[in-house]
Amino acid sequence: MQMTRSRVWGGTRILLVVAALTATAMAADTKQEEAKPKRQMLFTIFKPIMRDIGSCNTAKAKVVSGPVEMKMANNKKPGKQWWVSLGPSTFKLTIEDSAALTLTNALALVERVPTAYLRALEVVSEDQKAGLAFYKTLGGAAAHGGQSYLNMIPLKPARAASVIVHESGHILEQRARSKEEDILDRWAEAVKADKIDVSNYGNHVNHEDLAEFARLYAFCTDRALGRRGKLEVLRKLSPARFKLWERMLKLSGTERVPEVAQKSIKPNEEWQERITQLDANLEAAKKKATRG
Ligand SMILES: [Zn+2]
Repeated sequence: MQMTRSRVWGGTRILLVVAALTATAMAADTKQEEAKPKRQMLFTIFKPIMRDIGSCNTAKAKVVSGPVEMKMANNKKPGKQWWVSLGPSTFKLTIEDSAALTLTNALALVERVPTAYLRALEVVSEDQKAGLAFYKTLGGAAAHGGQSYLNMIPLKPARAASVIVHESGHILEQRARSKEEDILDRWAEAVKADKIDVSNYGNHVNHEDLAEFARLYAFCTDRALGRRGKLEVLRKLSPARFKLWERMLKLSGTERVPEVAQKSIKPNEEWQERITQLDANLEAAKKKATRG
């Protein structure tokens, strides 16, 4: 977008005012922090296992029909659309012709998404919606997600699945909110009650805290962690968010919660090391909390 000179100056003035206000707010925050100890962060604790999601999934995605030639919803450029099935779910996959992504690679990346979260792909495939849609570019963003769309750029499979489980948080929350309107306000209450943060990004705004929690929950169900996964640990650390997120999964129509009861698997050596690191982080976090 091109800006006129006066708009640029107007913008600068607003920025200066915002900067001044932020500085005041920061000074207030610092005072508060002296009184209250800083909250611990779930993403820091769980970092060792927040990688390579879905690496042990065995279900294969199959093309049900397509491709159908179509115009991409966002930019009207040519693309192709397929109906795809994976486990118990059926959903659409749309790829802009100029995006550097083959159908085979797109199928490989959805195979990494945990079963419970495939519900989000069903929601964005209803009626005329485009399903999981890949664009060559989204103006610098990796993805956008809501009840009506899940648009993203091509990414490597593990990274793509990690983005999809975050966006699924937004999609399923919006679906749940159409049944229980105050659910985001209840999320804000849960954040306060839990006495722990999820991530820096989540700290910016309530609905991102939710999407980041949804992402972490997905990582804790990963099959690579073994049969029981790490959901129980997450529930203990963040009980109010955990309960409300599982309620949202249910309200949004997924009946596959929790889905760690897949065929049992023993973590391989690499994953065992990551789990050991997580356990050490948990132990350290516990000590910090009691020192509080
Ligand atoms: Zn988000």
